[in-house]
Amino acid sequence: MKQLRCRECGRLRDFEPAYVCEHCFGPLEVAYDLDAVRQRVSRESIAKGPNTIWRYRELLPAPTGEPIDLGTGFTPLVKAPNLGKVLGLDHLYLKNDTLNPTGSFKDRNVAVATNFARSYGFDTLSCSSTGNLAGSVAAYAARAGLRALVFIPAGLEPGKVGAASAYGATVVEVNGTYDDVNRLCVELADLYGWAIVNVNLRPFYSEGSKTLAFEVAEQLGWRAPDHLVVPVAAGSLLAKTAKAFQEMVGVGLLDRASTRIHAAQAEGCAPVSTAIQHGRDQVTPVRPNSIAKSLAIGNPADGRYAARAVRASGGWGTACREDAVQEAMALLAQTEGILSEPAGGVVVAGLAELVASGRIRREETVVICITGSGLKTTELFEVRDGHRLQLAKARAADFEQALAAAEKAPAVVA
Ligand SMILES: *Cc1c(COP(=O)(O)O)cnc(C)c1O
Ligand SMILES: [Zn+2]
Repeated sequence: MKQLRCRECGRLRDFEPAYVCEHCFGPLEVAYDLDAVRQRVSRESIAKGPNTIWRYRELLPAPTGEPIDLGTGFTPLVKAPNLGKVLGLDHLYLKNDTLNPTGSFKDRNVAVATNFARSYGFDTLSCSSTGNLAGSVAAYAARAGLRALVFIPAGLEPGKVGAASAYGATVVEVNGTYDDVNRLCVELADLYGWAIVNVNLRPFYSEGSKTLAFEVAEQLGWRAPDHLVVPVAAGSLLAKTAKAFQEMVGVGLLDRASTRIHAAQAEGCAPVSTAIQHGRDQVTPVRPNSIAKSLAIGNPADGRYAARAVRASGGWGTACREDAVQEAMALLAQTEGILSEPAGGVVVAGLAELVASGRIRREETVVICITGSGLKTTELFEVRDGHRLQLAKARAADFEQALAAAEKAPAVVA
């Protein structure tokens, strides 16, 4: 029921560990016999499945037996009335993927890739990472009993690097950008027989990204939202979101899907949004310099597919100011109680731009993807001016005095 299809020339081949087309060197993706899947899945059959990504296993490269899993997916889709009010939206929802096992949506990809790697006898799990993927690969390797070696650019958030190490991975820090790290990993994929999940296992890895869109549709009562705002690094999440909507229509889970998909990036690394704004699919690489390190990919592997998917859906690409990122993280935390890493700030700031420019209207249904937890980037959260009381002694009178002084300070909340 599954084959691999070249995304450039469209040729089909057997389902096996492969990632480039033998004919044109284009990237491969998993292709399903949607008519056959349609016979086997329904909204009801999915509802009976586990509360994880594996409820969609008919549309994933799933193993034959019980999958190895940490409980990834089926994260809450929460209504966001307070943030909606600030931004002027009546039907805003947050897909809270900070609640995945290692705190980011990458667990979706890695759950699928790890099971694939096990089925095909790989003994080492690896990746090139902007931070979150490293932690996820390390955790899944621990769970699956595989060796883990993760490659990252130097200078990532200590919480991300430390977590990968705590799960038992060997962390390889490279003096360079993510794009340098990725180039090294492409070379290593040919030298070693490892499962480098986002390189030689990319067709399988990226399928995991679809589950976020499956969940959003199911959680809205099998309805596609009017708008979805997606943070973009390599572009896999965004490109596969579009594939997910096509497949849901193809197997009869949705009658139609006319969701406008928007790409959110920050100014310091916005090659995909720039391409979209110029009406191109071709992405011109940049050298990243952004607070949103998890999105800092200057030469995105799926950039052109992401740009194409956005344009085909009628969406847009945003490139928020760097200094808007932390403000937007604070706004999200202070209105809805969700602590996100900078990628979430990029999405909230991008949403604000989309509303201000009239691309998103008040009465429309909007879902934004909060893809990574702020608990890994705590160095970005300093106690705000006027919100810290320091008492020399544990005395009520001291407290009263300090509180009175502090409450004269101007409020910082946006
Ligand atoms: C990796 C990552 C993304 C972007 O994913 P791509 O599929 O590479 O575009 C978004 N948010 C967070 C937190 C990430 O770690
Ligand atoms: Zn090809």
